[in-house]
Amino acid sequence: MINLASNELKFLAGVGPKRADLLNKELDIFTFEDLLYYFPYKYIDRSKFYTVRELQSDTAYVQLKGKITRFETVGTGHAQRLTALFSDHTGSIELVWFKGIKYVLGQYKVNEEYIVFGKPSLFNGRINMAHPEIDKIQDADEKQKIVLQGFYNTTEKMKTNFLNSKAIQKIMFNLISSLHEKVPETLPGYLVSQFKLMSLHEALVNIHFPSSASQLSRARQRLKFEELFYIQLSLLRTAKIRNQQSRGFRFEHVGDAFTQFYKQHLTFELTNAQKKVIREIRADVGSGKQMNRLLQGDVGSGKTLVALMVMLLAIDNGFQACIMAPTEILATQHYETILAFLSEMNLNVGLLTGSTKKKERGQLHEQLQSGSLHILIGTHALLEDNVQFNNLGLVVIDEQHRFGVAQRAKLWAKNDQAPHILVMTATPIPRTLAMTIYGDLEVSVIDELPPGRKPIQTYHYYENKRNSVYRFIRKEIDEGRQIYIVYPLIEESENLDFQNLTEGFGQLKEVFPDYKLSMVHGKLKPAEKDEAMRRFASGETQIMVATTVIEVGVNVPNASVMIIESAQRFGLSQLHQLRGRVGRGADQSYCILLTPFELGKETRKRMEIMTRTNDGFEIAEADLKMRGPGDIEGTQQSGLPFNLKIADLAHDSQMLQFARNVANDLLDHDPLLQHPEHFVLTKQLQKKQKEAVDWKKIS
Ligand code: ADP
Ligand code: MG
Repeated sequence: MINLASNELKFLAGVGPKRADLLNKELDIFTFEDLLYYFPYKYIDRSKFYTVRELQSDTAYVQLKGKITRFETVGTGHAQRLTALFSDHTGSIELVWFKGIKYVLGQYKVNEEYIVFGKPSLFNGRINMAHPEIDKIQDADEKQKIVLQGFYNTTEKMKTNFLNSKAIQKIMFNLISSLHEKVPETLPGYLVSQFKLMSLHEALVNIHFPSSASQLSRARQRLKFEELFYIQLSLLRTAKIRNQQSRGFRFEHVGDAFTQFYKQHLTFELTNAQKKVIREIRADVGSGKQMNRLLQGDVGSGKTLVALMVMLLAIDNGFQACIMAPTEILATQHYETILAFLSEMNLNVGLLTGSTKKKERGQLHEQLQSGSLHILIGTHALLEDNVQFNNLGLVVIDEQHRFGVAQRAKLWAKNDQAPHILVMTATPIPRTLAMTIYGDLEVSVIDELPPGRKPIQTYHYYENKRNSVYRFIRKEIDEGRQIYIVYPLIEESENLDFQNLTEGFGQLKEVFPDYKLSMVHGKLKPAEKDEAMRRFASGETQIMVATTVIEVGVNVPNASVMIIESAQRFGLSQLHQLRGRVGRGADQSYCILLTPFELGKETRKRMEIMTRTNDGFEIAEADLKMRGPGDIEGTQQSGLPFNLKIADLAHDSQMLQFARNVANDLLDHDPLLQHPEHFVLTKQLQKKQKEAVDWKKIS
């Protein structure tokens, strides 16, 4: 059997050590196999010919048949360019070269028939084509076998070394021609036939050199399926193994803490969505298996309350619980919220952050170990080695994407037996992403807001309307409300942004001399930040001027207006997060997006989506489609745990669901993959694990 993975690239015809080196360094391609899995990013139809008359400046790549009627060199030195007049029976256009002029002049002759291929563009009011590909008719005849020509991504460095897309295509052709036997199948044969998939060999040939559009489409389907299937197989297998191996604490009885809270201290009715989620969680924690559940819900949907009720259940069953939050402000806020909820109950709740004093810290440690502390709330400080629980039964992780995988794993280690894990995120994640990134977690969704909330109204204004925005601010404050004004903070230009923020702050002070302002940004010391937040939260100040540090979780119900300066510089998910800072009380709330007049198409679309919908999931889906999974808030920090070569989480959701179902069924029948037909699966899983990142330790 051929082993493409052990064949070094430099031994391939047309490659050699220099090109091999470039491909290693620029594209991470080392072996025949790596190259074979380097897929084109697009295809151009080479079976169709255009005429000059049909061309428009916005036409994509085209092929023309005709003759060069004259060459002309214009300018000198660096500014030199070569033009050629190219004509067919319908008209003529100019071909242009800025480089390789000598080569072109030596290669092509006037009045011979050629096929030129390139992208028309508009120059000085006329259509021309820069650096076209040119073939003699008879060479072109050979190439007619290529119906759809693949285009490969290359880097600048590769291009200057003449390793462009066409060169890759050539070596790919050499590679495929050199295959004396078929590339071994990587899926069980019965799956290939049951789902009428193309064989791997055929798919790889067709992905590079499609024999027709429909064969290309089948090749893509096959390769996408395989890619998604293996990710799902790996995730689901991890989950199943974990379920079998790690027993979980059983929270079987509902006792005083839960009942008393629910019956006597909860002042409002739970939403149906909250009830549903609590049921799901109770089934998990009562099952004897360790829970690993993701709780998704838009800001303000009442996740914290759900988490609290599960913590009470833990306490009723003799366990301690903790909440870990990404920032000190958030941890403190959780602490205060929970203290308020539990004020009439006889439970011991502690707060542990970086700024907890040594003496208090010592007391907390003692109470934790003795078991007299029921709930501990904190930041990363909870992960320190000297934080030892007596009997930790439940870990709630809020806004988990700010925590690294390794950090989370550390919490497990605090017990002999893994506690139940509830991960809460307010960043709605598109279903496809959730299925892949959190594919080994169960998912609960709170898809309903508590009653009585008025949807936030969002408006997009150009900056020249600032004065009317200020009038609006004044009106709201005079009615007793509070205002956020947020400035962007992007790392590369941190100083500049800081200047914007402080200038903005200065101006606002002049515009609103009769109001009190707070300012919060990343350069403040934690204590200063907390003090500013505290003053705003308590209503001492009316306007909070801030960078995105206030993005997550902060809760000031009296704040009713969120103004976002330079809104064009924020991604959709981030805008949505910021907007979620208001609309937490009973008042009508507003979000105002300020931008310059000149906006790109994408940005305009973002503003349009924001003003149209409050639905976090819809926004997350749109964000995914517009930016791709790598840029989505929340996946960025944790990183997509694998590279997708061909599948696309924004568009292949059906395929993903299908692949997950297939993997699930398969594991139901053969959890350990012991069937001889499944040996290939184990082998592939091992190979993929070696190649990449730890996709498994995601929870
Ligand atoms: P999240 O954590 O999902 O952003 P919170 O748990 O902080 O949401 O809830 C937001 C606000 O709504 C809190 O003030 C909370 O007390 C309140 N709340 C939660 N559930 C309900 C409910 N069912 N009915 C009314 N108010 C609720
Ligand atoms: Mg919250």
